[in-house]
Amino acid sequence: MPNIVIIGGGPAGLSAAIYAVRAGMQATVLYKDGGALAKTDKIENYFGFIEPVSGAELLERGQKQAERLGAVLRQTEVTGIEYAAQGFTVKTADGVFDADAVILATGSPRAVPKIEGVAAFEGRGVSYCAICDAFFYRGKDVAVLGQGEYALEEARVLLPVAQSVTLLTDGSEAPADLPDGLRVETRKVSAIEGDELVSRVAFAEGESLRVSGVFIAYGTAGSGDFARKLGAQLDGTRIKTNADGSTAVPGLFAAGDCTGGLLQVAKAVADGAEAAMSAVKFVRK
Ligand SMILES: Cc1cc2nc3c(=O)[nH]c(=O)nc-3n(C[C@H](O)[C@H](O)[C@H](O)COP(=O)(O)OP(=O)(O)OC[C@H]3O[C@@H](n4cnc5c(N)ncnc54)[C@H](O)[C@@H]3O)c2cc1C
Repeated sequence: MPNIVIIGGGPAGLSAAIYAVRAGMQATVLYKDGGALAKTDKIENYFGFIEPVSGAELLERGQKQAERLGAVLRQTEVTGIEYAAQGFTVKTADGVFDADAVILATGSPRAVPKIEGVAAFEGRGVSYCAICDAFFYRGKDVAVLGQGEYALEEARVLLPVAQSVTLLTDGSEAPADLPDGLRVETRKVSAIEGDELVSRVAFAEGESLRVSGVFIAYGTAGSGDFARKLGAQLDGTRIKTNADGSTAVPGLFAAGDCTGGLLQVAKAVADGAEAAMSAVKFVRK
């Protein structure tokens, strides 16, 4: 049975799963946590609830509904998506999943770290995509700004290509399992500096590290990161979709807050349904 992998277990992802399984597909939802909905204390503008409902309760109901209908829910962090011979391979902290189609539903785009130089040097030494840009840094010293699984995944892509790769944890503890050859710098970063191109990272304490490139992989990878790597179009940090939830990449769909517009449960649920029906059509072709 074709497998539609949905990244994100919020209202957009769960709604997509419900529509996909009811259309006869296998649907696997990979989610890290409760997303924006779990942070919502009281919702009183969602259809069908006479009394306000907490985000946690709405989420639990959606999860149980999706599971009852046959969706598989797996709590794990997605760190990358690659093209496979047929469809896609989704990489997670707990292994890989094959997908005939992928629906991105990871919620609001990640915040860009508020470090001086990050925005100014984008495209001139600051990159958000190791797979896309590693080649430009072959034989050079580079850094990855981040602390989690996603940052380590970006570092793994850069290690065979660059002269040196330094993980900048920006004041956080170094992760436990580091890939061979990865250097770590735990000092707080104050700025990314250079002239025309990036030439160094400055630390709050005063010293600096000479690098030609800085790859931003702060926190968890979001839909925008995955979309960019696969070649889909973005409008700022939001994924550009057609009305049916499809992106410019065949087999890749997006739904919910990651596509922008009204950042509300009602829109996320509708987007999820739309993207799932389009993914089902795509897989059947
Ligand atoms: C405080 C607050 C109050 C709100 N109040 C309301 C309200 O009253 N009414 C209303 O309609 N809306 C409200 N909202 C907005 C609403 O919660 C969102 O619009 C909605 O949850 C978006 O759904 P989503 O599925 O797109 O994203 P989310 O609900 O954010 O779900 C994103 C999912 O993606 C997962 N994810 C992200 N990255 C990864 C990764 N790399 N690997 C695996 N999983 C990943 C997350 O773990 C999560 O499961 C509120 C939001 C907040 C923060």
